[in-house]
Amino acid sequence: MSTARGRTDDGAMLHPELRAEHDPDAIIRDGRRLDHAEGASKPLRPAPEPQPRGAKVHGNRPIDQQEAAARFIAASEHEKMHDERLWDLRQKRDREMHGIPEWEELRSLASAIKEHTLTHLDDYLDEFEANARKNGIQVHWARDAAEHNRIVHDILRDHGAKSLIKSKSMLTEECGFRPYMASVGIEVIETDLGERIQQLDNEDPSHVVVPAVHKLRTDVAEVFARTIDTDPGNSDVHYLAEAQREATRPLILAADAGMTGANFVVAETGTFVVCTNEGNADLSANVPKLHIASIGIEKIVPRLEHLAVFIRLLSRSALGSPMTQYTSHFRGPRAGGEMHVVLVDNGRSERLGMAEFWTSLKCIRCGACMNTCPVYRRSGGLSYGATYSGPIGLIIDPTFNARKYSNLPFASSLNGSCSNVCPVKINIHEQIYAWRRELVKRHEVPLAKKAAMKAAGELLSRPAAYRAAIAAADTALAHLPRFVIYNGLNAWGKHREVPHSPKQTFHGWYRANRGEKT
Ligand code: SF4
Repeated sequence: MSTARGRTDDGAMLHPELRAEHDPDAIIRDGRRLDHAEGASKPLRPAPEPQPRGAKVHGNRPIDQQEAAARFIAASEHEKMHDERLWDLRQKRDREMHGIPEWEELRSLASAIKEHTLTHLDDYLDEFEANARKNGIQVHWARDAAEHNRIVHDILRDHGAKSLIKSKSMLTEECGFRPYMASVGIEVIETDLGERIQQLDNEDPSHVVVPAVHKLRTDVAEVFARTIDTDPGNSDVHYLAEAQREATRPLILAADAGMTGANFVVAETGTFVVCTNEGNADLSANVPKLHIASIGIEKIVPRLEHLAVFIRLLSRSALGSPMTQYTSHFRGPRAGGEMHVVLVDNGRSERLGMAEFWTSLKCIRCGACMNTCPVYRRSGGLSYGATYSGPIGLIIDPTFNARKYSNLPFASSLNGSCSNVCPVKINIHEQIYAWRRELVKRHEVPLAKKAAMKAAGELLSRPAAYRAAIAAADTALAHLPRFVIYNGLNAWGKHREVPHSPKQTFHGWYRANRGEKT
């Protein structure tokens, strides 16, 4: 019998989970807590909530982000954790920002450097190539994803490489690199912990900085139990991280080649920089003798001094920390080794020519716009069904495939928070709006949505008709039976109540109190 807090008659302490007063799942009957032996209590730990999966992808058909988001929201533990974790990053970013008085100047400078570089891109790329070659780096150019994959495959084949360790790179996701390598029989091992979790779970990254942020630790325990034989009941993060380290280290040490991306490329020095928090890029680059770096052509900055501006902004914007743990400069191959850089276009030149969207190339992939976006935080990155999710995804993805990603620019409230936090001052919410117009022009918007928008446009452009419609709607709402709005067919009514309409509209009040003209 329990006497004081958790102490039994014989003085022994109960495990916290067995103390009735702290156990939310305890079953109390007639003032007495039932125990398991009576066969009536619930298990001490309820089964973990299953992880909601991402958007269903059917070839070129428009991704239904709304449907996938609804499933994520319905998984309340995941939704709550995701929202809180990302909002925490946003708050940390704000604290860092307040510690730097010249923050806004830095943002303007970063934006100006990127805009200058993008408008002189050919010159700076040539300068980088010449200097990189002087440093002993072999430089390749890839027009698109297929060419990138072929080039890397050729390099690996020339070296007889069968396994490749790799640090996180959104560009290689964009290129479908892992499936391609699997098709030619080369094993790819992701070295970033989050990315490795996603690889083992056969899922894409859901965030550009924290790829497995949508997973609960019980989800990770389930993945590791299935793939690297850990204890399925143990979701302790230290245990899981250690088990993953033990499982991956031998693969890293035995790999034939290493691959990284790059956060920045410096034209004047012919070098590139990779920022990580786990040091995994350094392992990928330095353990094998062959290092291949896949780099998007927009990553270039003119001089080394410009790098400082971006390094100060990147980690603060991304994770709310002053620096990434590792900021590694790669200057050339190590003694006896080889270094290759593949500069990839894959639609970037085309985007550079799009008057309304070219500045999206300024993006440094910090993820701040995702962390602040209320839609992204609550719907999870995999609901977008694309390489890039969140606000930056809404403006990049349609440049790859306007039909497939035609629904994405509508997954935004256009509140502008994304543009406010962007360290390189991309007018994200304005570009989202511009994409909506563009998609209508290209006939990529469903007819029902187009018809509804057209009707709304007509109504809003005729004040008298608008007022009459509002008066009619107010009367109808006051008298309609409840089931007309709150029924299973109307998703809107599931979580909302229509506010009571006031007795008098503003226009009516104005006419009554200030005269006829409104
Ligand atoms: S658009 Fe701006 S905020 Fe979003 S990931 Fe890119 S740089 Fe960061």
